[in-house]
Amino acid sequence: MTALRHVADGIACGDLMHLERPEAIATYLVETRDGLAVVDPGPSSCRDALQQAVLDFGAAPGDIRHVLLTHIHLDHAGIAGTLARENPQLRVYVHARGAPHLADPARLLESARRIYQDEMPRLWGSFERVDPGQLIVLHGEERLTIGERRLRVAYTPGHAWHHVCYLEESTGVAFVGDVAGEASQHGTPALPAAPPPDIDLEAWKPSLDLIAAWGPEALLLTHFGPVRHVVAHLDTLWDRIISWSLAVRASLASGESDDARADAFADAELARLTSGLTPEQAVHIDRDSIRSSWFGFARYWRKKAEAGA
Ligand SMILES: [Zn+2]
Repeated sequence: MTALRHVADGIACGDLMHLERPEAIATYLVETRDGLAVVDPGPSSCRDALQQAVLDFGAAPGDIRHVLLTHIHLDHAGIAGTLARENPQLRVYVHARGAPHLADPARLLESARRIYQDEMPRLWGSFERVDPGQLIVLHGEERLTIGERRLRVAYTPGHAWHHVCYLEESTGVAFVGDVAGEASQHGTPALPAAPPPDIDLEAWKPSLDLIAAWGPEALLLTHFGPVRHVVAHLDTLWDRIISWSLAVRASLASGESDDARADAFADAELARLTSGLTPEQAVHIDRDSIRSSWFGFARYWRKKAEAGA
């Protein structure tokens, strides 16, 4: 049984229960007069939970007509190709820089395998290609019409070079994927999601400014759920992106291995972040995500150093 959260008129947040963990990966269901739209349907390993969410929403899996991707990372887009194959009428919306990797995922899967290795099937399940005829390629600035709904598209790099956000105009909610970071439904602070390889600070701030300029009613995060205190969330997030990136840069001067530096960073941040929280809140701070952000920021600084050398 999934716990569907009502987000706005005809829009709900489903919990994909990734690896049986509640509130790790969200998907968003949007009712339209042109069938069901799903924003970031998640990985194939969460197929059962996705189907249950669709049923709980009062629809059937065959009703999915539109899959809107914020970006193509496996935790957001892994099942898109499978859904598209099962329903030839389904369309998959994706930024132009992500589209080629959906049509031919070989390189995407190769780089994921370098990180996850034998854990790939357990973590993410299969990843099927999307028939290019089913792709709707986005550049940002578009206004999509899906049934009676109007969605604005913004190109929002920073977390990934092919990241977009969507504003649903009638309700004012913004589907922001990972560029607006992570939070929880339990009063934990805004945290960056900064895994390798695309982290870019110069690109990130304008993306957050663009989202703020929409003045959204809520930010719909993938990790995890709706955030209503939009301005405070974005401000805290940017402050923490800066402080984390500077801490990572400072750590690069030490003589330890990357694994040791990432562990030290994750332990220190976890202790700092959880010190003011109750144990019930603290479980919603994900050490693995903090640790992976060390690698994302480290790669950013190293690339910058190489470019300047
Ligand atoms: Zn993600």
